[in-house]
Amino acid sequence: MKSSVSIVIPVHNERLNLPQLIERCVKVGRTLDRPWELILIDDGSRDGSSEMLVEAAKTYPGEIKSLILNRNYGQHNAILCGFANAQGDVMVTLDADLQNPPEEIGALVDKMREGYDYVGSIRRKRQDSAWRTYASKMMNRIREKITSIKITDQGNMLRAYGRNVINLINQCQEVSTYVPALAYTFARKPTEIMVEHEERAAGESKYSFYSLIRLN
Ligand code: UDP
Ligand code: MG
Repeated sequence: MKSSVSIVIPVHNERLNLPQLIERCVKVGRTLDRPWELILIDDGSRDGSSEMLVEAAKTYPGEIKSLILNRNYGQHNAILCGFANAQGDVMVTLDADLQNPPEEIGALVDKMREGYDYVGSIRRKRQDSAWRTYASKMMNRIREKITSIKITDQGNMLRAYGRNVINLINQCQEVSTYVPALAYTFARKPTEIMVEHEERAAGESKYSFYSLIRLN
C-alpha cells in the first residue's frame, strides 16, 4: 500500500495568505496519488484566521482538518499539536506565509520513498530581509557549537518526517521544542534536498531577535 501523507501547517494571523495557501496545498495533495490530509493549526490568531480554518475544513471534508488552539503557544508547539492529530505515514511541515512553495511537497515525499526518515531542505536562494538572514546564520553557528545536530538551513521549515520519528516526537515530553532538531535527533537516516524559497506573500515575520535566541 502507498504511504499516506499529512501536510502540517501552523497558522498565526495569516488571514491574507490562507486562501492561496489552501488552494495550492489542496491541488498538490490531490496530485500526490496517495491518501493525504492537510492539517491546519490555528495558533491563537486574532485576525479571523481561525474562522477561515473552520470554514476550510467544512469546504474540504476528508481532506482538511483544522485544529484551533485557545491561545498563542508558538509555532513549534502548534506543529506538535498537528503531529499528535495527524494520520499520515509521512508528515510534511511548511509555513503558512507561502515562503515555502507547496509545490515542493512532492519532491520531499519522493525523497522519503528512497528510504530516508527525515528529509530537510536547503533554500536555493533565501528571500528574507538581511537582518532575518543574518540572525538565522548566527543561531545556526551557535547550535553547531553546542550540539551535534547538523542542519544546513535551520530556519527553514519545509521538511518531511517518517512515522517512526513522529511517534517518538509524540511520546517525548520535551517542552521547549524546535521540531527539526528534535526530529533530527530521532532519525535513523536523515538527508537534505534543495528547494525554492519565496518572499512572505503578506504580513510580517513573527520572529524577533529575542524569540530566535529563545528558540535556540
Ligand atoms: N507561527 C505560529 N505561531 C507563532 C508564530 C508563527 O504558528 O507564534 C507560524 C506562522 O503563521 C507561519 C510560521 O509559523 O506559518 C512561521 O512564522 P514566520 O513566517 O513569522 O517566521 P519566519 O518566516 O520569519 O521564520
Ligand atoms: Mg515566514
